[in-house]
Amino acid sequence: MEMSEYNRDQLEAIQMVQRQLGTLSKGQIGGLRRRIGPYLQFRGEVADFQKQHFSEMCTEKCFTSQTSACCGREGIATFFADVVMNVLLSKEEEVEGLLQALSEDTGGFKCVYLHEKGCLWRLKPIVCEMFLCEHARDTVLGKDELLRDQWEKLRQREKRYTWPSSPVLFDELEEMFIRVGLDSPLMYYHRSPGLLRVKAKHIKNPPKRPA
Ligand code: SF4
Ligand code: SF4
Repeated sequence: MEMSEYNRDQLEAIQMVQRQLGTLSKGQIGGLRRRIGPYLQFRGEVADFQKQHFSEMCTEKCFTSQTSACCGREGIATFFADVVMNVLLSKEEEVEGLLQALSEDTGGFKCVYLHEKGCLWRLKPIVCEMFLCEHARDTVLGKDELLRDQWEKLRQREKRYTWPSSPVLFDELEEMFIRVGLDSPLMYYHRSPGLLRVKAKHIKNPPKRPA
């Protein structure tokens, strides 16, 4: 079966990141790990929130019946920065597992990364982490104002890393690879007209810096 464009873009991005990270010194890798520390802290908090409030309902509603609206085939946009952070945090065999899943994909309805034991990513893409279907939102957040408020705060925090109306980590990580001459269709912060417009607006009207 010929590899789909989606799988090829993913595979090439993972290999590119793997190669480039392999050229960095221990000190540079350490610097990169420190740079993403606050984001990982945030991701840990989101994961705890999801586990505490949604895992039971999701298991009951979807995973036991295998009818999940999450994890559909080619249903998510992975950002280049998602790939960078995941490869950085993964063991070599985990990265090989991703590459193998992409190259041995035989089609179907499920995301290429979804395997029997769950998602193959060590740190799954941010779009996956922040996704809640309508049923999940209504059932769990529906009448609970406090929980809704907590979820909204997490969504606002997510924007500090991903929404480029000010300099954000996701853009910065792409930039790091572009500066050494690399390019990928997953570099949405440098390719997506919508995100480029947000960035251009920010450059024209830079946010006021605190005195
Ligand atoms: S978020 Fe919705 S679609 Fe996804 S697993 Fe939970 S209940 Fe199912
Ligand atoms: S990357 Fe992982 S979490 Fe995201 S859709 Fe695929 S299997 Fe699901």
